[in-house]
Amino acid sequence: MRPFTFERADDLAQAARLGLGAGQGQTNATVQFLAGGTTLVDLMKLDVLRPERVIDIGSLRGAYDSIDAGPSGLKLGALTKMSAVADHPAVLDGYPAIAQSLQLAASAQLRNMATLGGNVLQKTRCTYYRDSTWEACNKRNPGSGCAAIKGFNRNHAVLGVDETCISQYPGDFAVALIALDAQLELSGPQGPRRMAFAALHAPPSGQPHIETTLQSGEIITAFVVPPGPWNGRSLYLKVRDRASYEFAISSAAVALELEGERVRNVRIGLGGMAYRPWRSEQAEQTLIGKPLTEANAEAAAAVALTSAKTHGYNNYKPELARRTLVRALLQAKSMVPKREGA
Ligand SMILES: Cc1cc2nc3c(=O)[nH]c(=O)nc-3n(C[C@H](O)[C@H](O)[C@H](O)COP(=O)(O)OP(=O)(O)OC[C@H]3O[C@@H](n4cnc5c(N)ncnc54)[C@H](O)[C@@H]3O)c2cc1C
Repeated sequence: MRPFTFERADDLAQAARLGLGAGQGQTNATVQFLAGGTTLVDLMKLDVLRPERVIDIGSLRGAYDSIDAGPSGLKLGALTKMSAVADHPAVLDGYPAIAQSLQLAASAQLRNMATLGGNVLQKTRCTYYRDSTWEACNKRNPGSGCAAIKGFNRNHAVLGVDETCISQYPGDFAVALIALDAQLELSGPQGPRRMAFAALHAPPSGQPHIETTLQSGEIITAFVVPPGPWNGRSLYLKVRDRASYEFAISSAAVALELEGERVRNVRIGLGGMAYRPWRSEQAEQTLIGKPLTEANAEAAAAVALTSAKTHGYNNYKPELARRTLVRALLQAKSMVPKREGA
């Protein structure tokens, strides 16, 4: 590990001020916030992240760790522990996709330590990114190439990639958030602002080291899931190499509003497949107004994967994603919501 300075923020304004530094949102940022530390410390030990300053925001937890479910939707403080949200009755009943995405992530110990804000900002598990002895990684070492393209890319992304980076976004919670149209509350040196969660993660665009649209010193303070009749009939389905303590090779977050057999509204997020949290609005449009039959679910899944680009070892992924999505849609159709219209 390289030397760095460590400071503790007493309030949000101080955190924003201390957090000012070069490259916020980039893999080579000189300042990093420490929340649960389960991504940050790991990657500092691996010499992948090399901050000069680490700002502990754990002391802000009391102000930003609430879970509120009401008529204006679900609001989750960004410093809330993953385990607290995964086990919360209002989330389990009203927003099952959110609860399941967190229950199925990491291990009990990690979920007790890790925060929601840190979770959505976790880094790719690409081996070539995490092993700093590999020279060619545009994300870690801009302009150096992408070793994964011709390397062992079994777990790599097939959606939203370009030839500068095919790494996969690994998180689960973000897939549920993007499907449910979540908003972010942020606070920075310029004050508070709100933005769509979908706008947080940047596409590779030839510059994969730029990962998010966060501004210098900006902190995520909350996630807001808007109300909607589909929230109660939502689920997160995760497919992985082993049944626990493993990242997704494929996942789907779906939310349905049905009118008899017909789909009035549907939300679809895909995980384990894409460069960043992925919403498939085209697949949603394919289903709206139609009965949710297996054939219609398969047609929507085909649309969701039309732009897939594989690189050899990950050739199996589009078919796996189609099957995951069909299964998720049919399971959501047959579920009995505990709370309709959360
Ligand atoms: C072995 C292992 C298995 C795992 N399996 C899974 C899995 O199956 N599914 C899954 O989804 N995740 C998984 N994870 C990832 C884990 O969930 C994340 O490490 C964790 O959620 C990160 O949260 P944290 O609070 O510890 O973040 P930290 O490590 O403290 O921070 C991570 C990053 O986010 C930034 N940051 C943190 N909070 C904020 C904020 N509020 N505003 C702005 N920036 C912020 C930090 O600067 C840092 O860059 C796994 C991790 C490990 C180590």
